[in-house]
Amino acid sequence: MDYSPNTRALDGVTLDVKKGEWATIMGPSGGGKTTLLNIIGCLEKPTKGRVVVEDTEVTRLREKELTRFRRENFGFIFQQFHLVSYLTALENVMLSQYFLYGRKFDYDDAQAALERVGLSHRMDHIPSHMSGGEQQRVSIARALVCEPQILLADEPTGNLDQKTGSVILELLKSLHSEGHTIMLVTHDLSIGKMGERIIQLVDGKITEDSSN
Ligand code: ADP
Repeated sequence: MDYSPNTRALDGVTLDVKKGEWATIMGPSGGGKTTLLNIIGCLEKPTKGRVVVEDTEVTRLREKELTRFRRENFGFIFQQFHLVSYLTALENVMLSQYFLYGRKFDYDDAQAALERVGLSHRMDHIPSHMSGGEQQRVSIARALVCEPQILLADEPTGNLDQKTGSVILELLKSLHSEGHTIMLVTHDLSIGKMGERIIQLVDGKITEDSSN
């Protein structure tokens, strides 16, 4: 990859995603998909331009406000799960609560989030004692526990076999039908077709934006 300071990861991107929509971002590697997701999710700041979520112009928020806004509004699901290896499933989920609420953990909510993803029998297991699909379900529980409206998923099935991947996708489908906004990056067109809209990003530009 070219990490020169002149790389323009996104170039003149204008995008309006509706509340409750499922928008899939596709396109070749290096096209800017992850950068777009990270900017929408307030993990990265654009050098120019505005990001508005509901009525908040997040690009104007200071670091602390931005962090809080991100934790309240976004749940992240990554290809590599990013669970803490020495914490149990329950503790991994509670870590999310800790970051948002400090020491005011709520065991019931954390357990409910794991039950929601069908993992009540794995609450006390550490990641290395769980399958890839189970680890991804823990990461979805972690994303859900603070009840964010928007779920951002970067190749959530990229590390899973097809059968396990479809369990994860079914889960995302039901979260979407419950009203969550979903933005998902994938290379797989059949996953793209599950949402309402496919956005193609090539060389940092939107080359196609079509409804399914
Ligand atoms: P995609 O997710 O579509 O593969 P990325 O958003 O990861 O694309 O990358 C878009 C462009 O930004 C690429 O040219 C990539 O090399 C560059 N890039 C990605 N991450 C960084 C970084 N941390 N520093 C500098 N350039 C980066």
